[in-house]
Formats: sequence, structure tokens, C-alpha cells
Amino acid sequence: MQTEKNTKKILLLPGDGIGPEVFGPVRDILEHLVTSGHVRLEWEEGLIGGIATDRTGLPLPPDTIEKADRCDAVLLGAVGGPKYDALPYEKRPERALLGIREHLGAFANLRPARLFPELAGSSTLKPEIISDLDLMVVRELTGGIYFGKPRGIVTDQGVRRGINTETYTEPEIARIMRVAFDLARTRRKKVTSVDKANVLESSVLWREVAVSVHKEYPDVELSHMYVDNAAMQLVRNPKQFDVLVTGNLFGDILSDEAAQLTGSIGMLASASIGGKTGLYEPIHGSAPDIAGKDIANPLAMILSLALLFRYSLQREDLAGVLEQSVQNVLKEGYRTTDIQGAGTKKIVGTREMGSLVFHEL
Ligand code: ATP
Ligand code: MG
Repeated sequence: MQTEKNTKKILLLPGDGIGPEVFGPVRDILEHLVTSGHVRLEWEEGLIGGIATDRTGLPLPPDTIEKADRCDAVLLGAVGGPKYDALPYEKRPERALLGIREHLGAFANLRPARLFPELAGSSTLKPEIISDLDLMVVRELTGGIYFGKPRGIVTDQGVRRGINTETYTEPEIARIMRVAFDLARTRRKKVTSVDKANVLESSVLWREVAVSVHKEYPDVELSHMYVDNAAMQLVRNPKQFDVLVTGNLFGDILSDEAAQLTGSIGMLASASIGGKTGLYEPIHGSAPDIAGKDIANPLAMILSLALLFRYSLQREDLAGVLEQSVQNVLKEGYRTTDIQGAGTKKIVGTREMGSLVFHEL
């Protein structure tokens, strides 16, 4: 492993629910990589989500934004919980998630769905459908119906109406397409653009822009798929996909579906890039149903740290070390409850799983 010249800085935001639990091994791993001289890195911690609302009245306090601006990358656990569901939208933990993504300008959410061969038996799908699965969902993250205006609940002639607006501009589509094509060049050179162009105007434009940006990438294959078909193809024949690029809402749904192919939501990491600072987080939420029980799977969190090394610190070597350590532990038969199945030798909790990975480093 090589040594870094400049010290990098990362911000740790454990958040709510299982967030702080799955963050446990992360600090140990960072500590180890720094003290053993593999990377020059400093980190600080900040508040986000429900815990931030509890302590400061805001889910995304200015202090957290300032810290993020000083850092090269942000690693986030999860936010939210039933305790906060009744709060007005601006105070809800989920608002903080959208807020920090927006602030960092991280418009491209990468969700790799790679099947560790050791987990092929724990999926509900047949091994021949998912063996060697390795696809990447690229989800547009700062536009679309999650942000479109008008939005709100209005009363119209005595009838309440909930409003959201799906909107995409040409530059927003073009830049996410470039991320997808660039990634495809480092992989199997195939992009599937997912839309609903038979029904939605935003999707008609999406498809047009995809075709036009594709002209810059003649070496990459581009195909289009309607989102309903893509949802079906993901469970029928997921290995046909290399890079799947889509908008905010469709990407949210399809990446959860892709997650299930690989065994568990507890295995999948994500990277949000494209802005000045990358944001890395597991795709799972705060999982209030299992929080505080030491049973959450910390591997998605550890794999998110691997993505941080890969995309924000350009340390492919360290990303590889982490991914290999995870794989070794799986090979030895250790599983958290969410990934138990064929090949399981011992069920372990969050802390033990974290320390097993740590000892593989
Ligand atoms: P959000 O809206 O934040 O995505 P959610 O309620 O949709 O939250 P999660 O919090 O991810 O979704 O939980 C979905 C299910 O997956 C829950 O049953 C939860 O216990 C389980 N789950 C989520 N993360 C993990 C994990 N790391 N390990 C084990 N199970 C998990
Ligand atoms: Mg969810």
C-alpha cells in the first residue's frame, strides 16, 4: 500500500437508529489504517437527523454543514425513526438527508450491486440467475420529483390535494448520463437508461438527452428501458445489466430491488458524487425495528467506507483491502441474521461482525 502525501479529512455522521451501531467498526478501521501508516487521514464527527433535531432543533445544523465544507468526504450512517415522523417536513430527519446531498451538490448516486459468491445461497433467487452478478445503479439524486415545485398539500374547493412535480432539465440529465458513460468505460461498457417515456414528458427529454450525450461515447453501448420492464428484468435476468442510469424516484426503487438480489439491504453501499465533496452511506435506513439490539449488519457501512477510499481519496488499494476483508469473513461462514442461509457457520452480532472484518485487515 502506498502512503499519502497530504492529510485528508473526513466527516463522520452516524445519525439515528442503527447508524451509530454500524459506525462502530468504522472508527476502529480508520484508527488502524492511520496508525499503521497506510493513509494520512483526520476525521471529525457531526450531528445529523433526529439526534440533531433533539440537540439543536434542526436536523441539519449549520455546524454540520461547516464541517462538511472543510472535509474531502462525508460518511453517513442513517437518519430517522418513528419518534420524528410527526414533525413538520422541514424538521424531519429525512429533510437533512436531502439537504446535505443538495448542499454538497452530489447529484450522482452510485449503488453497486455485486453478489459476494459466498452469499449466493442466501438469496431468494436461483443461483443461476444471480451468480457473478455485478451491476451498478446510477441514480440522479438532486432533481426530479423529490425536489420539483410546486409541492405541498393544498385545499381546493374543500378537497385536500397532495402535489409533487416531476421535472428534469437538459443539463441535469446530461451530467448524470456522463457519469454513467464514464463508469461504463471502466466496466463492461453497457449503459441501460431507464425512464417512462411512454407516459412522462420528463422522461421524453431524458431519453433525448441520453441519445445525444451517447454520441460522445461511441465505444459504450446504450439501450433504453421503461421502468416497469426494468423492475421485471431485474428479477428475471439481472445479469443483462452493467450500468443502469435513471432518475431520482425510479432509482430509489430499482436500487432497493437490486439490493435484494445480492442477499440483503445490509450489504449494499452507496456513493453520492459529482459535487465538491463525496457523500458515502449504506443504502439501508435507520431500521428502528432492530436498532439497539446489536443485530444490524455493519457490512454495508464498511463497504461504504471502501467506496469513499475509491472515489474521494483515489485509494483503490484501500478500497480493495476492505472489500477483501469483508469477503474473507463471509468465506469463513460468519453471518449477521439478515444474510444467514447456505454456508452459514456462525451467526454474529453487529459488534462481532465489525471486529471480524477489522482483524482481516
Ligand atoms: P428509509 O426510509 O430510511 O429507507 P426504511 O424503513 O425504508 O427506511 P430501513 O430502515 O432500511 O428502511 O429498513 C428496512 C428493513 O431492512 C427493516 O426490516 C430493517 O430491519 C432491515 N435492515 C435495514 N438495514 C439493515 C441492516 N444493516 N442489517 C439488517 N437489517 C437491516
Ligand atoms: Mg427505504
